[in-house]
Amino acid sequence: MKRLAILGSTGSIGANTLDVAARHPDLFEVVALAARQSVDRLLEQCIAHRPRYAVMVDPQGAKKLEEELASKAPQTQVLCGAQALEQVAACAEVDAVMAAIVGAAGLPATIAAARAGKQVLLANKEALVMSGALFMRALEEGKATLLPIDSEHSAIFQSLPRGFACGRAGEFERAGVRRILLTASGGPFRTTPVDRLARVTPEQACAHPNWSMGPKISVDSATMMNKGLEVIEAHWLFGAPLESIEVVVHPQSVIHSMVEYQDRSVVAQLGAPDMRTPIACALAWPERIDSGVEPLDFTALGRLDFERLDGNRFPCVRLCIEAIRQGGTAPAALNAANEIAVEAFLNGRLGFTQIPEIIDRVLGEVHAEPLDTLEQAYAADVEARALASRFISRLSVSALPPSALPPSALVS
Ligand code: NAD
Ligand code: MG
Repeated sequence: MKRLAILGSTGSIGANTLDVAARHPDLFEVVALAARQSVDRLLEQCIAHRPRYAVMVDPQGAKKLEEELASKAPQTQVLCGAQALEQVAACAEVDAVMAAIVGAAGLPATIAAARAGKQVLLANKEALVMSGALFMRALEEGKATLLPIDSEHSAIFQSLPRGFACGRAGEFERAGVRRILLTASGGPFRTTPVDRLARVTPEQACAHPNWSMGPKISVDSATMMNKGLEVIEAHWLFGAPLESIEVVVHPQSVIHSMVEYQDRSVVAQLGAPDMRTPIACALAWPERIDSGVEPLDFTALGRLDFERLDGNRFPCVRLCIEAIRQGGTAPAALNAANEIAVEAFLNGRLGFTQIPEIIDRVLGEVHAEPLDTLEQAYAADVEARALASRFISRLSVSALPPSALPPSALVS
């Protein structure tokens, strides 16, 4: 029995993890669930999966959850606050932690799981972007194992030699790899005329052609910031030099990524675009279990296409590479600026093409420092958030997207 803590259980990855775990009650026990504020969803999950602990970060939500659970699932103890995330991530009753909180908020608990020597199933790519070197150190200190959940990184992991240990120094060189080919669908705006991008809406940006995901990563996929973050993620997970990572646009999202070896042999992993496959793969690794995903029908698929990445249309990939080259706290600043810009876009306060503009301005303004402690990563995060918020609030009314304008402004 593997005992699981699922952080971010009410989100897209969290729900998919519960779906896979529930198919194998003989293999997995759900010990802890955690979410920010969605009381009803967490309540439902507690009734269905009967965990020992339920963490609700929001205090009012926690109170309400506690009241409801008293009669409906009295075996579940409710914990409250961000500290409780770290507590369940490191708790002795847990073997594996699914790190599926979105954004920088997931970092402390992910590090706590690594330090406590857990098996870390990593979906929260922002944690790795913010503090890759520190996260690797925490893994080593805790002798923890790291398994990727992101579909591309799961594909790379599955295409690497058996026994490859993510996050361990020297593994990449020993594996005889020449290139990592990170595939990208190109998102919903791959073929939209560039001059129309400034006016696309949050609804359009969240309508991904292949994947169903949470709102933040959906916008990241539309800007291709997601792919830039994934380049950084691959760099840390596999110890791969930046020059050895190449992005290839593959609109069908069937090849989830590939590894090219020194002898020019290319190994790829394929599957339907459904996160339950990489989740099941990590949950059971090195065994294989049923994920509930429909099998691929190659004859129905017919063809697989590939394109070069259009760097003008998608400047975010370049911004990510610049940040990781700059090193130190620069990627933490990049991530924070993106989180603020995406939130403003989702709330109609920022245009789609202004997302990379804000990030670029923040990166130009912050002072990147060497990264030795988590506090420095948080300080860079706070500074970049404040800068991004200031830049957004200073935008003139004429620069805002139509959805952000008050009705009176629209009449004229
Ligand atoms: P989501 O928005 O659907 O869910 C986010 C979860 O995090 C929710 O349970 C929410 O309650 C929790 N959360 C948010 N803020 C929190 C906070 N401050 N404290 C505690 N909990 C908080 O997001 P998602 O799509 O499931 O993505 C989760 C992570 O997985 C992200 O880092 C994303 O980049 C990564 N990821 C997602 C997918 C996907 O297909 N959805 C694929 C690859 C990687
Ligand atoms: Mg991905």
